[in-house]
Amino acid sequence: MAPDRSEEKKGYSEQDIEELRRVIKNSYAPYSGVRVAALVESASGRKYFGVNVENASYGLTICAERSAVAAMVAAGDRRIRRVVILSNTEEPLPPCGACRQVLAEFDPEGSSEVVSISLSTGRTARWKLSELLPFSRLPIKRSD
Ligand SMILES: [Zn+2]
Repeated sequence: MAPDRSEEKKGYSEQDIEELRRVIKNSYAPYSGVRVAALVESASGRKYFGVNVENASYGLTICAERSAVAAMVAAGDRRIRRVVILSNTEEPLPPCGACRQVLAEFDPEGSSEVVSISLSTGRTARWKLSELLPFSRLPIKRSD
């Protein structure tokens, strides 16, 4: 199959959207009603999915991006290539600050493409991780 140039331009494929649409149904958002699904593609080309998981304590809520990163790490991958986020909000949701730092742990150069898509309006936004978190704390190299 010939590479889909529009896919390259957009930063996501129709298959990504199809998969995210399926996964977003599993998000657990009884408090806010804001459903989010995230796809993290590793350098090996594998895709990992996550959803937001809210909690009665609110503060323990886990974002979709971080749950996708946890799935990637559990599978043994350590390098993020791109991120696609789907939400039921009117505007595409950028990753929160905590998620930006967690993404940077597995992409210290910040070269990943991060695309966010509104399920409701179809609006999209796209950034490089380095734009979202220009001064991330990088994985620490101990000197001892
Ligand atoms: Zn987050």
